[in-house]
Amino acid sequence: MALYSGKSEGRNVYRFFEPGMDALVRARLALETDLETALKRREFVLEFQPITNIASGKIVGAEALMRWNSPTRGLVAPDDFIAAAEDSGLIVPLGEWALKQACSVAAGWPPGMRIAVNVSAVQIRSADFARSVISALAVSGVPASRLELEITETVLMDESERVLKTLRQLRELGIRIALDDFGTGYSSLGYLRRFPVDKIKIDRSFIHDIDNKDTAAIVRTIIGLGAELGITVTAEGVETEAQLDILRKAGCVEAQGFLIGMPSKAADMARLLKTRAASRRA
Ligand code: C2E
Ligand code: MG
Ligand code: MG
Repeated sequence: MALYSGKSEGRNVYRFFEPGMDALVRARLALETDLETALKRREFVLEFQPITNIASGKIVGAEALMRWNSPTRGLVAPDDFIAAAEDSGLIVPLGEWALKQACSVAAGWPPGMRIAVNVSAVQIRSADFARSVISALAVSGVPASRLELEITETVLMDESERVLKTLRQLRELGIRIALDDFGTGYSSLGYLRRFPVDKIKIDRSFIHDIDNKDTAAIVRTIIGLGAELGITVTAEGVETEAQLDILRKAGCVEAQGFLIGMPSKAADMARLLKTRAASRRA
């Protein structure tokens, strides 16, 4: 149990057993068992959050965000169950479901509207990942150019050539690869040379703190980096007009956040896209 505690804190640490650790381990095991049942009972749902082009103000797509509608635990946020699903390996079938579901929902959206899906490192490492992505597109009829896979820096830090090969293969099909939570990981810029991504998503902690002049300088630098490399930059967690204004002036391409739109149910997202499209025609 001390070993598990150390591992969960990012390794390279030591931990002595402390009373209470067994309770934590039991809770974690219960969570993993519950997740397995939840997948069988189809208790997971996706919400969709719009992403806009800052210059035109038009919605360009949406990100699929997973929620667990548990009869005993209530509505559980992904931060409270994704890690457990990764540890138990359940993220592989769960992530496959998310991809299929997101594509089938996006199939009903106006043409060209993009769908972004989060994928975790464990998923990409599984041998069948590329096949499951291709199958989600084929079944839904969504063209590859409309699908965006959001990965985190840890995926590219993975030394395994197989992971990079899988991502390259998907990119060649026209699927876009976005680097999520940019700036919070190791941020070794070396991997931007090893693997060319299509999009960088600046982590919302930077946007939250953009009033600070040093943070604003970092944000402007990331936007400049994207422009130089021909990578679309999206700001996450945009909550105020003032933040959007700073981003617009800095030349940021896209924005996502509560100011633009809250994550909402598939039906509400479809309605939003329809009314936006109608008002554009008018
Ligand atoms: P993420 O991919 O960075 O997703 C953005 C998160 O920021 C979402 O949290 C969203 O609700 C939240 N957010 C959006 N706009 C704002 C804002 O203006 N202010 C603030 N404070 N928050 C905002 P959520 O839905 O709780 O998801 C958390 C994380 O869980 C995601 O971060 C993603 O890493 C992971 N996740 C979600 N769905 C999936 C999935 O299907 N598969 C995998 N592997 N991970 C997922
Ligand atoms: Mg994301
Ligand atoms: Mg993010």
